[in-house]
Amino acid sequence: MLLRKMSEEVKATAVYSLIIVLGFILSCVVYFTVSDVEDTTKALIERQMPALSVIRQIMASVSEQERVLYEYYTTTEETLYWKSFAAAKNDTFHHSNTLSGLIADKSMLFELRSGLKTINDAASAFQVNMISDNTSWDLARQQLSDISHQRREIIKLLVVLEQTTDVDVTTGYQNTLLKLNNTNTTIMIYSLAIIFVALVTGWYLRVYFRVSRSNKRLAQFTQRNPHPIVSLNQYNDIIYSNPATKKMLAVHKDSNLKEADLIPQSFLKQSFDAKKKTEFVRIEHTLANLSLSCEIHWLSDLNVFDIHISDITEEKKAKQKLNFQAFHCPETALQNGYKLSQVLDYKVLDDAEFSLGLLEMRDYNHFVAGHGVESTRELIRCMASRLHNSVSESEHDIELFKLSEKSFAFVIEANMLEQQIKTFCQQVEKEMEEPLYTDFGEFNIELDIGFCAFPVHAKKANKLMQYAQMALDEAIELEHTSFRYFNHQLSEQLNNTLKITGWLRSATDNNELSLVYQPQLDIDGNRMIGMETLIRWHHGDSYISPVDFIPIAEQTGLIIEIGHWLLMEACAMAKELIDQGHDNLVLAINISPRQFRHPQFLSMIEQVLQDTQLVPAQLELEITEGVILYNEAETIAVLHQLKAMGIQLSIDDFGTGYSSLSYLKQFPIDKLKIDQSFIKNLHSNDEDKAIVQAIINLGKNLGLKIIAEGVEEQMHYDYLKSLHCDEIQGYWYSRPLDKESFTSFVETHTGN
Ligand code: C2E
Ligand code: CA
Ligand code: CA
Repeated sequence: MLLRKMSEEVKATAVYSLIIVLGFILSCVVYFTVSDVEDTTKALIERQMPALSVIRQIMASVSEQERVLYEYYTTTEETLYWKSFAAAKNDTFHHSNTLSGLIADKSMLFELRSGLKTINDAASAFQVNMISDNTSWDLARQQLSDISHQRREIIKLLVVLEQTTDVDVTTGYQNTLLKLNNTNTTIMIYSLAIIFVALVTGWYLRVYFRVSRSNKRLAQFTQRNPHPIVSLNQYNDIIYSNPATKKMLAVHKDSNLKEADLIPQSFLKQSFDAKKKTEFVRIEHTLANLSLSCEIHWLSDLNVFDIHISDITEEKKAKQKLNFQAFHCPETALQNGYKLSQVLDYKVLDDAEFSLGLLEMRDYNHFVAGHGVESTRELIRCMASRLHNSVSESEHDIELFKLSEKSFAFVIEANMLEQQIKTFCQQVEKEMEEPLYTDFGEFNIELDIGFCAFPVHAKKANKLMQYAQMALDEAIELEHTSFRYFNHQLSEQLNNTLKITGWLRSATDNNELSLVYQPQLDIDGNRMIGMETLIRWHHGDSYISPVDFIPIAEQTGLIIEIGHWLLMEACAMAKELIDQGHDNLVLAINISPRQFRHPQFLSMIEQVLQDTQLVPAQLELEITEGVILYNEAETIAVLHQLKAMGIQLSIDDFGTGYSSLSYLKQFPIDKLKIDQSFIKNLHSNDEDKAIVQAIINLGKNLGLKIIAEGVEEQMHYDYLKSLHCDEIQGYWYSRPLDKESFTSFVETHTGN
């Protein structure tokens, strides 16, 4: 527990101190033990062992003294006393002297000396007795006996001394052994302890080296880091900066930057307390043309802020570029649809009034088909730049977006009234009417525009888009109308359209569709020359006019299926009449633009004629100017093929379109059908009279037949007759009739 709490440094110091203390104690123990052993051994070697030997020598020399005296007694050889006895006595004396230096027990020594002295004194008395002239042999024997007794006493003493010394030697020897043993054990224990401590130290050293290695690496990490790193103290002083910092400053030396500049001012200005409250913060800032990202870390243990700086200039640029690409059209650099939805979402959240407009180039598809994708793109680019100019010159705050190939959007700030928006759009349209000059030539374009407003019409972005689209669709749909402001009727109409579409899909299967035929009269010959086929739809109890459902059938493509059925039905009917003898009647059938453009249109007509066996010359197709206005080359080709088959062609609703009359020559047309709107007001409107007259003259000049439709009054008939109009069609002559009524009409009006 305690160990865990200690820092590595404290642990290392503790272990190190322990080794020193253990080492010191071991040294002391060894020193004292060895010197003790030395003392004991010294005593053994220098005193006790020699003492034993000297004791034995004394024993020997004392015994020699006694023996020499007994020999002297036996031989009475006086020299024995002076030589041998004296030598033994000297030895004894010498040894006892030596012994006194080796033995500590002084009383025993004293006893020994006095014993020896007694022997010597007795020996001396013995010698005197021996050399006297009257030697007493009894005395001599007594004296020898005393000496022997004394010698035995001395030997006893020496034996005691020898034994004491021997015990001392043994004890000393055993003590030494014991001490050496203890020393061994101590050394072993301490050695084990030191080895253990050394192992622990080794382990700690390994850890230390590892830590220090990683520390070194960490230290180098900062040094070698390719990104600038700066350390800041609480007084905003830079206390460290790595080489990458200097490198960055060197790279941008032109900007005269200093290290301190790299740190965001917003951070420097904060109080120390505020700064350290957040342990980590990332701040981006810009210097000259340099964008930097600073990650600031508060290192509480070091009391510094470490600031990691990275140069994000390129990243920023790339992001801006990506952002631009994501929200702009690459061709025109205008903001795109994503941006529009973002802007709408913001504005709706803002709750401030604004208007949304959608704008589309009219007949874009025809244009692409007629001039190709490249030139159309080029044209759209010119159109975009002109629109951009109109918007920038406007006094209103208007944003322009490019949504698709052909459509744009306006977002107009503030609450501009419908009339003001209309005026602005008229201005835009006028500018657009000016020819656009592209690399592919000069073009005139027309626009359709639909507008709605927030929050009057809708409060949600997607609803606004939907309503603006409805208004635009309406503007596209309506002829002579290029601007539509949304109202809720439009939305009702759309719902109606959706309803009708649903019903129409099942109308053919449910046999809800039928055909009526409207007779046509040749004025000069006063006879019926043909009939126009008109479609009728009864859905349940209600009658739905072709004016309402034909455009829907067009939009949804259902017209292809309906058109085929209708052609079969009408041609079969006509064939029946012809077979009955009414062989100069021509059957007119309305062909809508989508039918005409269908790739299988020609083969379908051929097939129907073949199936019904109707002679092509007795079939007339009514097409509108809209069909022939665009994609001229292809249209002309189809018209020529129809013509080549022998089919007659007429232009329906003539006068309402935009086609220049002069190019009519290019088309293999047989007949012009003057639109009923000019006929309706013939009696009151001089202008219409003039138009009708002009159309008739023009048609005649081009060698075309002229038919007027919507002839309701005698006066219409009279006027048309006076202008030498060839044919008429209208209620005046006959209403459209169902098959049965029409058959009887034919019976009574053809004279056959
Ligand atoms: P449209 O081709 O101009 O047809 C003439 C329209 O005028 C017909 O209306 C006809 O009933 C009506 N009409 C004829 N005489 C008079 C008259 O004296 N006075 C008045 N006020 N109207 C007269 P309807 O049948 O309602 O057809 C309307 C339009 O629907 C047609 O105009 C045509 O564009 C389209 N349509 C009708 N039937 C077909 C069809 O079978 N195929 C295609 N593609 N379109 C058709
Ligand atoms: Ca017609
Ligand atoms: Ca017509």
